[in-house]
Amino acid sequence: MMPDPLYLIYMRISYSAFDTYQNCSLKYKFQNVDMIKEPKSKEAIFGTLIHSVMKFIHTPSLLQPKLEEALDFFSKNWNADIFENELEERSAFTQGVEMIQRYYKNNNPADFNIVDLESRFQIEVEDGDKKTQHIISGIIDRIDKTDEGYEIIDYKTTKKMPSQEKVDNDLQLSIYLNAFLSRYPKEIEHLDKIKVSLYYLKHGVKLTSTRTLEQLKNAKELFLDVIAAIEAEKFEPNVTPLCDWCGYQKICPMWMHKFKEQRKIDTEEVNAAISEYINLKYAINSTKVRIAELQEKISQYMKQEGVGRVFSDEGIIAETVRKTFKYDEKRLREILEPLDKWDSILKVDGIALKNIMGVLSPTVRKEIEKTKVIDKETKTLTVKKK
Ligand code: SF4
Repeated sequence: MMPDPLYLIYMRISYSAFDTYQNCSLKYKFQNVDMIKEPKSKEAIFGTLIHSVMKFIHTPSLLQPKLEEALDFFSKNWNADIFENELEERSAFTQGVEMIQRYYKNNNPADFNIVDLESRFQIEVEDGDKKTQHIISGIIDRIDKTDEGYEIIDYKTTKKMPSQEKVDNDLQLSIYLNAFLSRYPKEIEHLDKIKVSLYYLKHGVKLTSTRTLEQLKNAKELFLDVIAAIEAEKFEPNVTPLCDWCGYQKICPMWMHKFKEQRKIDTEEVNAAISEYINLKYAINSTKVRIAELQEKISQYMKQEGVGRVFSDEGIIAETVRKTFKYDEKRLREILEPLDKWDSILKVDGIALKNIMGVLSPTVRKEIEKTKVIDKETKTLTVKKK
């Protein structure tokens, strides 16, 4: 599809960069704004090889490769040098073999009617308000023709699987479906016959969903929201298990201190303060647990003996009852409204608002997001002990 000449092309982004922004916007900045090259992690290299094996298995031919041939392809392309030690390398190799074996156990490659493999796409997403157009590109792992319609499949080599609800709202699958529809526009009439799937090869599980027109429209809104955040240069670190595969740890403010070079230049006093803080915080937590246990024991004793205070050489413990109250909102309103004081006690409940956000349309959510301002900023130190 040719870009619309009435629109200004604003951003070209690959789906993988877009995905990186959603997982960690700081990583996106390192990669796409600062253009710092990231060494490919062993997990990424492993994932690429497994994707090549899947392509090998499904490339249409007279005779589809058998399990032994797929395993042979895998081992011939295996790169043992990327692993730190033999144990790690053998474990990864075994995982790969098991993935392929499991795939053959659950599927017969000859049963599929492949339309395209590693299918490259480039689609335009228009922002009518700003008269801009963004271009997103990517690669769809596999498109199959099914008895009812089509199936768009993306392979995953990660361990963590999402819930069905997440798959039903997965933005990647919606973007891929939009890309498919830009190539086969007539298929929009049979949207309910087009399946979108994430295939988790480690588990041998395929999570499948479909999309409605409404969901595709919402996905576009969500996409534009993310693009707006990138344009606004909102780049914040997001510490998640994915950090383990991030090649920017040495320059990331959330991780750089872990590396010896930084720690060597810290003074002994700072290092001692960090260690003492961690130990004290943990001592507080274990003290809290012990206090709760003792409290329970003493309360039970007081109840059993029918006493309100207990004595020891160290002091006295008294039981007090603390009451919290809530008000009858209707009655309170009847009293305060005539006095013009009702509005002054109303406060937006952030938690209640968060709970209803999921059921609101993206447009309303966007409007609400725009009303958000920082009320106050407090810094806390959270501790994770080794
Ligand atoms: S280490 Fe984690 S927080 Fe830091 S840039 Fe990488 S993914 Fe983001």
